[in-house]
Amino acid sequence: MKQILKYSTIAVTLLMLTTTSQANETKEVDVTKKETATKVEKKEAHEAHAHKHWGYMGDVSPKHWSEVKKEFNMCSEGKQQSPINVVASKDIELKPLDLQYKTGSETIINNGHTVQVNVKDGSVLKIDGADYKLKQFHFHVPSENNINGEAYPLEAHFVHATDDGKLAVVAVMFEEGEENPVLAKAWKKLPSLKVGEATKCGLTTEEVQALMPKNKDYYKFNGSLTTPPCSEGVKWHVYKNALTASKEQINTFFNLFSFPNNRPVQDTNNREIDE
Ligand SMILES: [Zn+2]
Repeated sequence: MKQILKYSTIAVTLLMLTTTSQANETKEVDVTKKETATKVEKKEAHEAHAHKHWGYMGDVSPKHWSEVKKEFNMCSEGKQQSPINVVASKDIELKPLDLQYKTGSETIINNGHTVQVNVKDGSVLKIDGADYKLKQFHFHVPSENNINGEAYPLEAHFVHATDDGKLAVVAVMFEEGEENPVLAKAWKKLPSLKVGEATKCGLTTEEVQALMPKNKDYYKFNGSLTTPPCSEGVKWHVYKNALTASKEQINTFFNLFSFPNNRPVQDTNNREIDE
């Protein structure tokens, strides 16, 4: 009897062990399946993010840029971001900008974020002996930078780059007033322009030059791109004096997008702003 009990105990123990082992195996398979599922979900989410584009409205608006892609982390982590409220902190009697614009426009494009005029090669901004080549200029309605607390209805950014990728921007404000003849010529192309489509816009060298104010006083400071990836190390130059654009010209631009395409002003973090 004792013997029988002993065997049956062994049998039960064996059975229990087997069951437990099977249960463990099943559990392990479940965990693996779950992990795989999570990986797939994460991958899909990542891919969806990769395809998700930044913008100015809703869940891809400026305050969410760093969530759209991990490469956009500077948009929230940067300490020298643009745009800013420009208030001079140091008078160093800046030398006039050495702008050598010798070319007209190549094409005009509505890229979904702004209207951009691409410029033919051959125009430069010289800074400390280096050639910053004018690549394109584009517009923001209303302005991105403020000057002494004042926003403007329109701001143009002239974007220059060295061959090794250093960036310099020259910004021009527009206030509401008389129609701007150069914008009038460029804007003619806008109503028929589909998003992402480039077309010739025929601005001459003189017309590009005329998009700079006659009074050349400006502010200088370090900043960033005002759009993702918000890269820093951009040399900013903002003219103190504004040009004019008509109310109609400003509205025509605004109505293309139906949303303001300006990033809000960022903290200066006690940045030096020269004049
Ligand atoms: Zn810009």
